[in-house]
Amino acid sequence: MTDRHILTAVAWPYANGPRHIGHVSGFGVPSDVFSRYHRMAGDKVLMVSGTDEHGTPITVAADAEGVTPREIADRNNRVIVDDLQSLGLSYDLFTRTTTANHRAVSQEIFLGLLKNGYVFPQTTLGAISPSTGRTLPDRYIEGTCPICGYDGARGDQCDNCGNQLDPTDLINPVSRINGETPKFVESEHYFLDLPAFARALGDWLATRTNWRSNVLNFSVNLLEDLKPRSYTRDIDWGVPVPLDGWRDRDDKRIYVWFDAVVGYLSASIEWARRSGDPEAWRQWWQTPDADAYYFMGKDNIVFHAEIWPAQLLGYNGEGDKGGTPGSYGRLNLPTEVVSSEFLTMEGRKFSSSRNVVIYVRDFLSRYDPDALRYFIAVAGPENQDTDFTWAEFLRRNNDELVAGWGNLVNRSVSMAAKNVGAVPTPGELTDADRALLATTSGAFGPIGDLLARNRQKAAATEAMRIVSEANKYLSDQAPWKLKEDPARRDTVLHTALQAIKDCNTLLTPFLPHSSQKVHELLGGTGTWSVAPRIDEVTDLDDGSPYPVITGAYAESQAVWASTPLPPPGTPLAPPTPVFTKLDPSIVDEELRRLEGGEGDGTADGEA
Ligand SMILES: [Zn+2]
Repeated sequence: MTDRHILTAVAWPYANGPRHIGHVSGFGVPSDVFSRYHRMAGDKVLMVSGTDEHGTPITVAADAEGVTPREIADRNNRVIVDDLQSLGLSYDLFTRTTTANHRAVSQEIFLGLLKNGYVFPQTTLGAISPSTGRTLPDRYIEGTCPICGYDGARGDQCDNCGNQLDPTDLINPVSRINGETPKFVESEHYFLDLPAFARALGDWLATRTNWRSNVLNFSVNLLEDLKPRSYTRDIDWGVPVPLDGWRDRDDKRIYVWFDAVVGYLSASIEWARRSGDPEAWRQWWQTPDADAYYFMGKDNIVFHAEIWPAQLLGYNGEGDKGGTPGSYGRLNLPTEVVSSEFLTMEGRKFSSSRNVVIYVRDFLSRYDPDALRYFIAVAGPENQDTDFTWAEFLRRNNDELVAGWGNLVNRSVSMAAKNVGAVPTPGELTDADRALLATTSGAFGPIGDLLARNRQKAAATEAMRIVSEANKYLSDQAPWKLKEDPARRDTVLHTALQAIKDCNTLLTPFLPHSSQKVHELLGGTGTWSVAPRIDEVTDLDDGSPYPVITGAYAESQAVWASTPLPPPGTPLAPPTPVFTKLDPSIVDEELRRLEGGEGDGTADGEA
């Protein structure tokens, strides 16, 4: 182990519906590949996230079903936990924002900002119903978006363009309850003083030279138009404002986005409390040389490259107004905001309501998780918007995973099993043998560098190029023609199997499920790569039950290096296929599902 601490902070999926493969291609698989690589390299990784459960869309869904927001959150939290675990995402803790711990940490950040003067009260215009005189929460106000012109925008955000709004921004606002025009009266809110961070944010971004250029440019551009932003909203579902006169009000809460990003810290603290060492989180948040990588889709850059760093700077007392750190002490800023672009589906934007979608659980009910993980790694939206097509998914699965990698494993192990029944004994190596082994063992350095820099597409492509080198070696050496020279045949097979072991290690961050299978086919025992599990836990403070994703990943055997095969003579059994070859008819079937509206009927899964 090194002493390097790496926080993998993964965007919090919004709990108003199940997640689709576009979501997990942005925040999910890339963050997991990164974490798995660093764990294999010996770094101390803490990967945290959870479901984001406050805010207007969940209350709207609850209103529509006549249930409480908590019931909507409970249901979708469980669905999302199941999906992410099935995909093999190796969270140290995947929790939720409705825990008492998260509420307390969110309130502490607010109070730290307030103490340093970065959050201030301001009288603004809030909506009331003229007929009843009651406060009209943001979600009950609808109107035309001033930015994109969409006529169903709500008082806190536009679902069409994704921009955050204030009720007074809406053109022709109306009450969704009775259609009347709301009256705007003076209402007190707290604001985050973003202009006070312009210089500190600029200085910080100037040191972020390794970011993807589009993410860095976008973040720098945000600094040109910093305005104070409302930290509290007119809503009854969220983290209460921890101030006398506010704490017990049921119409004022901390804005969902401002509590969701605090989740990275609160989940780290919850993880530490559950680990038995409540202070353990500090190694990832306060050690000067700890690193923190934040993973998300590009629609969330503003909250990770502007709002959250501003909250941290203000809490630390590092904006223009100075100050001192709150009771947690100084907290580290992100090392990198790793943002993906968008995945589209057969040329169209994902849309649950228009059924241009495939949910993670539907996908995994028909296909292997590693097939999806591989597609996202090698053909996902790392640097540009990318289209998912079923034809391309079929081709990647059948030509690359099955015919390329799976077939190399299958024919090598099956020849060794048939001719030797065990790991063969190698004789003296030829130049060709040594060249292949130099290629596979030499790949760890360059591919590791690519993974550390989140160039996952290049890393996966290079790993598959190494696989094709091994395939070429096997074809050239043709051990099946060496019946008369079993010593040479065994040397070739041993060399091929060692190369396969190296390739399997190189592919483990991308293909954790099949890497376990290959490990066993090569005569390995025990757990190569520990899978995430779901634990049913209770809230540490209020006792309510919920599921979390966690795992004993340190028990994995896989390390980022060439490691020797089990000794010659270790029994090998005839292999079963590592991957499933797909029938080309799945393309038409899936396109029919897409056109025919055969989804699962969930119309509100887009956050
Ligand atoms: Zn809009």
